[in-house]
Parts: sequence; C-alpha cells; structure tokens
Amino acid sequence: MKIVADREACASAGMCALTAPGYFDQDDEDGRVVLLAEEAEGRDDDVADAVRLCPASALRVEP
Ligand code: SF4
Repeated sequence: MKIVADREACASAGMCALTAPGYFDQDDEDGRVVLLAEEAEGRDDDVADAVRLCPASALRVEP
C-alpha cells in the first residue's frame, strides 16, 4: 500500500509518529508530518491505526 500524507491538512498532533514511528515523524520546525516510508509493508496495522487516529484526516493509504 502506498502511504499518502497531506502536509497542508496536518494539524501537527503527532499521533502518527507515536502510532507508527517507522513510517511517520514530525518536522522539527512546524511539527507537521514527515513520511519516512512511502510504502507500508509488514506493519500495515500500525499504518492503518495511524490513518484512523489522525485528528486532521491528513493520512490515507492507496492500494
Ligand atoms: S496524526 Fe495527522 S495531524 Fe497529527 S502529525 Fe500526523 S498527519 Fe499530522
């Protein structure tokens, strides 16, 4: 699955970096999401949780 993050929509809440730290980090300056990997592999559940928990609906996955 391809991971897509909308930095414009991101509210810098940090849930994604806590939930799936192998895939998401936060920008040191503005706190917005930084994608560490563009494809979800073995830990799909973590990525799915991050998508579900994002308060700004800024994350999604595509087949
Ligand atoms: S959980 Fe959503 S709003 Fe929070 S940093 Fe990640 S992408 Fe941005």
